Amino acid sequence: MYCPKCRVEYREDFTECADCRVSLLPGAPPGKAPQHFDPNLDLVVILETNNRIQLALATGLLEDAEIPYYVLGQIATLVTDVDPFLKKWVRLQVPRDQEAEARELLDPVLNPVEPPQIVEP
Ligand SMILES: [Zn+2]
Repeated sequence: MYCPKCRVEYREDFTECADCRVSLLPGAPPGKAPQHFDPNLDLVVILETNNRIQLALATGLLEDAEIPYYVLGQIATLVTDVDPFLKKWVRLQVPRDQEAEARELLDPVLNPVEPPQIVEP
Protein backbone atom coordinates (compact mmCIF):
# COMPACT_ATOMS: atom_id res chain seq x y z
CA MET A 1 0.00 0.00 0.00
CA TYR A 2 1.21 3.49 -0.64
CA CYS A 3 0.03 7.06 -0.49
CA PRO A 4 -0.60 8.57 -3.95
CA LYS A 5 0.25 12.01 -2.64
CA CYS A 6 3.46 11.66 -0.67
CA ARG A 7 4.34 8.18 -2.01
CA VAL A 8 5.13 6.80 1.39
CA GLU A 9 4.77 3.05 1.57
CA TYR A 10 2.49 1.47 4.17
CA ARG A 11 1.82 -2.00 5.41
CA GLU A 12 -1.21 -3.86 4.07
CA ASP A 13 -3.35 -3.13 7.13
CA PHE A 14 -3.30 0.60 6.57
CA THR A 15 -5.94 2.25 4.42
CA GLU A 16 -5.26 5.93 4.78
CA CYS A 17 -2.13 8.05 4.77
CA ALA A 18 -1.55 9.47 8.24
CA ASP A 19 -0.12 12.67 6.80
CA CYS A 20 -2.25 13.39 3.74
CA ARG A 21 -5.56 11.79 4.83
CA VAL A 22 -6.05 10.19 1.45
CA SER A 23 -6.83 6.58 0.66
CA LEU A 24 -3.84 4.38 0.05
CA LEU A 25 -3.41 2.55 -3.20
CA PRO A 26 -2.38 -1.07 -3.46
CA GLY A 27 1.09 -2.01 -4.60
CA ALA A 28 4.35 -0.12 -4.53
CA PRO A 29 4.72 3.62 -4.96
CA PRO A 30 4.98 4.73 -8.58
CA GLY A 31 8.50 5.31 -9.64
CA LYS A 32 9.97 3.71 -12.70
CA ALA A 33 6.62 2.44 -13.94
CA PRO A 34 3.99 4.90 -12.83
CA GLN A 35 0.85 3.17 -14.10
CA HIS A 36 -0.92 3.16 -10.77
CA PHE A 37 -2.34 6.46 -9.79
CA ASP A 38 -5.24 7.64 -7.80
CA PRO A 39 -8.11 8.31 -10.23
CA ASN A 40 -9.27 10.97 -7.82
CA LEU A 41 -5.99 12.75 -8.06
CA ASP A 42 -6.47 15.89 -10.08
CA LEU A 43 -4.27 15.38 -13.09
CA VAL A 44 -3.79 17.61 -16.07
CA VAL A 45 -2.29 16.71 -19.41
CA ILE A 46 0.68 18.93 -20.09
CA LEU A 47 2.08 17.13 -23.07
CA GLU A 48 0.62 14.99 -25.81
CA THR A 49 3.21 13.67 -28.13
CA ASN A 50 4.25 10.90 -30.42
CA ASN A 51 7.82 12.04 -30.18
CA ARG A 52 9.75 9.76 -27.87
CA ILE A 53 12.65 12.17 -27.62
CA GLN A 54 10.37 14.97 -26.55
CA LEU A 55 8.75 12.69 -24.00
CA ALA A 56 12.12 11.59 -22.65
CA LEU A 57 13.23 15.21 -22.32
CA ALA A 58 10.03 16.14 -20.54
CA THR A 59 10.09 13.24 -18.08
CA GLY A 60 13.77 13.86 -17.40
CA LEU A 61 13.07 17.47 -16.49
CA LEU A 62 10.18 16.49 -14.27
CA GLU A 63 12.30 13.89 -12.51
CA ASP A 64 15.01 16.46 -11.87
CA ALA A 65 12.43 18.79 -10.37
CA GLU A 66 10.85 15.92 -8.40
CA ILE A 67 7.44 16.54 -9.89
CA PRO A 68 5.42 13.34 -10.05
CA TYR A 69 4.18 12.53 -13.52
CA TYR A 70 2.11 9.90 -15.21
CA VAL A 71 2.42 8.67 -18.74
CA LEU A 72 -0.77 7.41 -20.30
CA GLY A 73 -1.85 6.08 -23.61
CA GLN A 74 0.84 3.71 -24.66
CA ILE A 75 -1.61 1.87 -26.79
CA ALA A 76 0.80 1.28 -29.60
CA THR A 77 1.34 -2.44 -29.30
CA LEU A 78 -1.64 -3.46 -31.37
CA VAL A 79 -0.92 -1.15 -34.24
CA THR A 80 2.87 -1.20 -34.26
CA ASP A 81 3.01 -3.06 -37.53
CA VAL A 82 0.63 -0.71 -39.24
CA ASP A 83 1.99 2.59 -38.14
CA PRO A 84 5.08 2.41 -35.97
CA PHE A 85 5.38 6.13 -35.36
CA LEU A 86 2.12 7.95 -35.61
CA LYS A 87 0.10 5.78 -33.25
CA LYS A 88 2.50 6.02 -30.36
CA TRP A 89 0.78 8.98 -28.85
CA VAL A 90 1.27 9.33 -25.16
CA ARG A 91 -0.10 11.77 -22.65
CA LEU A 92 2.07 13.16 -19.94
CA GLN A 93 0.11 14.18 -16.87
CA VAL A 94 1.06 15.99 -13.70
CA PRO A 95 -0.96 16.90 -10.60
CA ARG A 96 -2.89 20.11 -11.15
CA ASP A 97 -1.25 21.85 -8.22
CA GLN A 98 2.09 21.42 -9.94
CA GLU A 99 0.90 22.22 -13.44
CA ALA A 100 2.30 25.76 -13.52
CA GLU A 101 5.68 24.63 -12.29
CA ALA A 102 5.75 21.78 -14.76
CA ARG A 103 4.71 23.96 -17.69
CA GLU A 104 7.38 26.50 -16.91
CA LEU A 105 9.93 23.75 -16.61
CA LEU A 106 8.87 22.14 -19.85
CA ASP A 107 8.52 25.33 -21.83
CA PRO A 108 11.62 24.68 -23.94
CA VAL A 109 10.26 21.20 -24.68
CA LEU A 110 6.68 22.27 -25.32
CA ASN A 111 7.57 25.30 -27.35
CA PRO A 112 10.90 24.62 -28.98
CA VAL A 113 12.33 27.28 -31.23
CA GLU A 114 12.57 24.66 -33.91
CA PRO A 115 9.98 22.01 -33.22
CA PRO A 116 11.26 18.47 -33.48
CA GLN A 117 9.82 16.85 -36.54
CA ILE A 118 9.57 13.40 -37.92
CA VAL A 119 10.70 13.69 -41.48
CA GLU A 120 8.53 11.74 -43.81
CA PRO A 121 10.41 9.71 -46.38
ZN1 LIG B 1 0.70 10.74 2.21
